[in-house]
Amino acid sequence: MIEVKNLKKSFGDNVVLKDISAEIQNQEVLVVIGPSGSGKSTFLRCLNLLEQPDSGHILIEGKDIMDPLNKINEIRMELGMVFQRFHLFPHMKVIDNITLAPMQVRKWPEDKARKKALELLDKVGLADKANALPDSLSGGQAQRVAIARALAMEPKIMLFDEPTSALDPEMVGEVLAVMKQLAKEGMTMVVVTHEMGFAREVGDRVMFMEQGVIVEVGKPAQIFESAQQERTKSFLSKVL
Ligand code: ATP
Ligand code: MG
Repeated sequence: MIEVKNLKKSFGDNVVLKDISAEIQNQEVLVVIGPSGSGKSTFLRCLNLLEQPDSGHILIEGKDIMDPLNKINEIRMELGMVFQRFHLFPHMKVIDNITLAPMQVRKWPEDKARKKALELLDKVGLADKANALPDSLSGGQAQRVAIARALAMEPKIMLFDEPTSALDPEMVGEVLAVMKQLAKEGMTMVVVTHEMGFAREVGDRVMFMEQGVIVEVGKPAQIFESAQQERTKSFLSKVL
């Protein structure tokens, strides 16, 4: 479980997260929506300390990740992250992209890391691409490799920041299908996306952010069909 309490973050004078509090249950899929600049990425990046919050608390399984006594690398291992751009290492084969962190950070022997990587490639439908170089992959394939790479660390939580926004439309579905399967298997997920179909179908709850605050959170049907806040309704009328 993730507990976010009174999280605040500014960049200079720009207050980007204004006292955010939220809870994400184990095995829950929380979909975060909101206009550009509302603080969605910053919120996600604070959860694994890619951004250092100014104040507040983030507890993961009860452990305050902002407590300097807790080791940041151990916390990060529990959270996998997938970005809009895939950030694969271009000079390394797909399989080596996937085995790198488990071998270096988790200190797995190579055979164990390769076995796990091949299982994951199979899971994302790319068993035949183990020895390919990233440049030879389509965007959808590269993003599925990026998901496999994140999963190789056996994270307890997966964070997705607009994982399909950089893809050609015909490749969006294959990435969403992998995410949907993960959700079905019980992965705890926080997903920033503009894919409202995914939010409705796979999300357990949808959180609408605007100007650094959480305007409204609820079950998808509640948000999409009977939003309480005018700002939520106004945003949805533009994107649905
Ligand atoms: P988008 O939908 O465009 O991805 P977002 O909701 O993810 O938007 P953020 O990227 O979290 O929004 O940005 C929120 C605000 O914080 C913006 O005003 C942005 O310019 C600012 N911001 C984000 N990261 C930084 C940074 N590293 N330095 C300075 N300002 C930043
Ligand atoms: Mg963003």
